[in-house]
Amino acid sequence: MSAELIDGRLIANYYREQLKKTIHELKTEDVIPGLAVILVGDNHASGTYVRMKRKACGELGIHSELYHYEESLTQDELVLKIEELNGRDDIHGILVQLPLPQHINPITIIETISPSKDVDGFHPVSIGKMVTNQDTFYSCTPLGIMKMLEYENVDIKGKHVVILGRSNIVGKPAGHLFLNRDATVTYCHSQTTNLSEYTKKADILVSAVGKPDLIRAEDVKQGAVVIDVGMNRNAEGKLCGDVNFHEVKEVAGKITPVPGGVGPMTITMLLYNTVKSARWQLVNRQNG
Ligand code: NAP
Repeated sequence: MSAELIDGRLIANYYREQLKKTIHELKTEDVIPGLAVILVGDNHASGTYVRMKRKACGELGIHSELYHYEESLTQDELVLKIEELNGRDDIHGILVQLPLPQHINPITIIETISPSKDVDGFHPVSIGKMVTNQDTFYSCTPLGIMKMLEYENVDIKGKHVVILGRSNIVGKPAGHLFLNRDATVTYCHSQTTNLSEYTKKADILVSAVGKPDLIRAEDVKQGAVVIDVGMNRNAEGKLCGDVNFHEVKEVAGKITPVPGGVGPMTITMLLYNTVKSARWQLVNRQNG
């Protein structure tokens, strides 16, 4: 059997078209969604991510502003900038590209962003609301996974979801979003023994580890939905996920490729959160 491909590019485009309509509606109310992006230093990968995010904003008609600082920027200077952006009505989302230089504490910086503009979903207020199943900004990659499964009509209620990885930005929030949708969730991590015993029991398997070929055909239950979040380079320097795609596609029911799977959804969910924030602000204004 060969699995059905979950095409992240196609699904991301579907959500982007929906967002365009909402952005158009907001414009009729004189609201242009605005995203401020802060980049500190010259990390090559961070620079690439920021360019991709701003390009996507431009394609949808979201206003974006880049604040690119030298590595020597102090924490206090960065806090002041965020506080200024917190106070601006035309900026609905603030994104500080991580990692930050060593002398800047990322926790302090994330906590300085107003929860009402926390479009990355990293603020403890957003996380607390997510854990207690309230509407909030959800971290973009886990939200992208949920939106993909929604598009694909994958039933989540009562399913056993096994998440590999427990990072604060992917693994942990992904597990909570599944739990909120009535799945039974198992987390695995670097200290899990006999990983395969868990993965083989998954109806939905999400791998967010960062190790090529971690998941082989024998680790997957027949017909399972396999979501590969990993972004790695293989021995030939080609982009690949955590899952051995060619083997696992013969066993899984549905599978995401890398590239072209979860990746395009992540940026789309940043746009989604920015537009959501602009809408919230408009509703608050209309309600006085
Ligand atoms: P991370 O912070 O390094 O976390 C990796 C997690 O994997 C940790 O929880 C770690 O366990 C666990 N782990 C390590 N070895 C393991 C093993 N052998 N078996 C099971 N679990 C193991 O990484 P991240 O930021 O969550 O990202 C994970 C991957 O997703 C990376 O490849 C990253 O590039 C990719 N990513 C992709 C997107 C996208 O849009 N496609 C977005 C974000 C991240 P411990 O907690 O015990 O250390």
